[in-house]
Amino acid sequence: MTAGLLGIEGLGRPEIEAILERSRYFQSPGRYDTLRHRLIVNLFFEASTRTRTSFEIAAKRLGADTVSITASSSSVSKGESLVDTLNTLVAMKPQAIVMRHSASGAPHFLARHLSTPIVNAGDGTHEHPTQALLDALTIFDRRGSLENLRVAIIGDIAHSRVARSNVHLLSRFGASIVLCGPPALLPRELEQLAPGVELTNDMNEAIRDADVVMMLRVQLERQHEVPMAAGEYFRFYGLRLEHMALAKPDAIVMHPGPINRGRELSSEVADSQRSVILNQVENGIAVRMAVLEKVVA
Ligand code: ASP
Repeated sequence: MTAGLLGIEGLGRPEIEAILERSRYFQSPGRYDTLRHRLIVNLFFEASTRTRTSFEIAAKRLGADTVSITASSSSVSKGESLVDTLNTLVAMKPQAIVMRHSASGAPHFLARHLSTPIVNAGDGTHEHPTQALLDALTIFDRRGSLENLRVAIIGDIAHSRVARSNVHLLSRFGASIVLCGPPALLPRELEQLAPGVELTNDMNEAIRDADVVMMLRVQLERQHEVPMAAGEYFRFYGLRLEHMALAKPDAIVMHPGPINRGRELSSEVADSQRSVILNQVENGIAVRMAVLEKVVA
């Protein structure tokens, strides 16, 4: 991880465990000054609420200075290339750059050319490592282990960097994973992401005996075909309370956000006792503190 954090795929279980351990320490709110006088740049070329805000809060809680730049307010909108933008920022000597980009592999490409550590805050359909880490922390908080848990990941799998990062992480910890979505959003090759990953188009089958039901947003911004209408999608792939009767009695519902009520899940589920969606948001700060500290210190 000397070059930052680009994905879960390149991390071993001990590295993941170390980040989660440090995140647990940061779960108690407070100010920790381990990154005082350091500068973290947040560079977001795609929309974000949770990720950008929580990276910023995380950096501040560690005592670092932060600058947040969004594509629309940067010189990217004046035609500057990605490499020139990054070189300009690097010249200001930040200790890390947190970056979100619509192109899969963009942070990996830049990491090869820059000496400043890059933290991937989501690259296209590829990876969203801090999301998988905060998801794991949230599951650990409830279950104490990922071993032998059945995790159903449901929705627009094809375009989901959250699904990919989660598959890499969960499979390292012995969870059994079932991916579910409409045929057009569930490419068969995803079976090869990790050994033992199951694929199904049947939502009931995915949820049966699940310990964790992770719903995903339909990524309309990445779909090139005419998407299913919200109502039709909800009929076949929207999570409703009655589905949860098929899952384990203490199963939890997760979603990386932003949620679309009435498309991916009903309000009854989103606001139910089973939903840990806001716990995920809260854990995002602790995990991002652990990641920034590791990358910069
Ligand atoms: N916030 C997550 C991401 O950036 C999930 C989503 O947007 O649907 O990938």
